[in-house]
Amino acid sequence: MHIVVCIKQVPDSSQIRVHPVTNTIMRQGVPAVVNPYDLFALEEALRLKDTYGAQVTVLCMGPPPAEAALRKAISFGADDAILVTDRAFAGSDTLATSFALASAIGQIGRNMAVDLVFCGKQTIDGDTAQVGPGIAKRLDLQLLTYVSQVDRVDTERREIVVQRRAEGGVQVLQTRLPCLITMLEGTNEMRFASQAGMFRAARHPVRVWDKAAAGIEDVAKIGLKGSPTVVSKVFAPQPKASKAEQIKCESNAPKDLAVTLIAKLFTQHPALESAISAGTTGSI
Ligand SMILES: Cc1cc2nc3c(=O)[nH]c(=O)nc-3n(C[C@H](O)[C@H](O)[C@H](O)COP(=O)(O)OP(=O)(O)OC[C@H]3O[C@@H](n4cnc5c(N)ncnc54)[C@H](O)[C@@H]3O)c2cc1C
Repeated sequence: MHIVVCIKQVPDSSQIRVHPVTNTIMRQGVPAVVNPYDLFALEEALRLKDTYGAQVTVLCMGPPPAEAALRKAISFGADDAILVTDRAFAGSDTLATSFALASAIGQIGRNMAVDLVFCGKQTIDGDTAQVGPGIAKRLDLQLLTYVSQVDRVDTERREIVVQRRAEGGVQVLQTRLPCLITMLEGTNEMRFASQAGMFRAARHPVRVWDKAAAGIEDVAKIGLKGSPTVVSKVFAPQPKASKAEQIKCESNAPKDLAVTLIAKLFTQHPALESAISAGTTGSI
């Protein structure tokens, strides 16, 4: 089984500050970490390797320093690492990023067919959760999002069974390989790197691919040219001025609670009662 895990290097969000005037993120001096969601994906891939045997390849698109994220993944037990980096990728939005990663996965598959692609559910900086589904669509892979656990893989029948967290419960889904999984946070605990793993990571040659090596011929699909997203406004969230209020009620009966709450609302918003009667609440 060949598993590709997509990992992104992100600024440590606990140390990020927003510039008070320009409202842009101040990245200077902020250490970079592996996107935490991607570590859950990597751990799940390594567990499959422990159980079934697998080749685990980690893939990252980013600037040259992102190699550190790949070495970290090697120290945990990944077998191979590829950094896709090229000035032509600068300014890529999620559409261009998923195109570049899908193309690189296509190239990886030329040497050894890829059975499973893991992504994190989302990143802590971009936060869009679009890249995983974007890769799946481009590579025509079955897409399993919000996965909390892989139950089993049948490599002979080319089937996989996963648990997916859905609103109000857990879905157990079975599908065919190859597929792409986006892994939920908090679902497993990342193992520690062994000393041997750390030595291996320091020595391991990380493969560095430019756009041509990643199989990209059409530069109009990457970088700014391939990015239709327009950032129209950037702002820092304002702290809320209003505080929660405790409303006292004589009894705990739902009807009495509702009447007290509605009476309070009508007192605070005098126009509300007549607007509801007139059916014009939209104008308030
Ligand atoms: C107009 C515009 C311009 C931009 N310009 C730049 C720029 O110049 N430089 C820059 O760094 N960013 C840039 N970005 C941000 C960049 O588009 C996103 O960081 C990137 O597309 C990933 O999106 P996300 O962080 O929302 O990932 P999500 O969709 O939330 O990520 C989901 C999962 O996909 C995988 N994944 C995501 N990104 C990568 C990656 N790079 N490598 C491997 N796996 C990955 C991970 O497994 C991750 O958990 C720009 C964005 C926009 C809108």
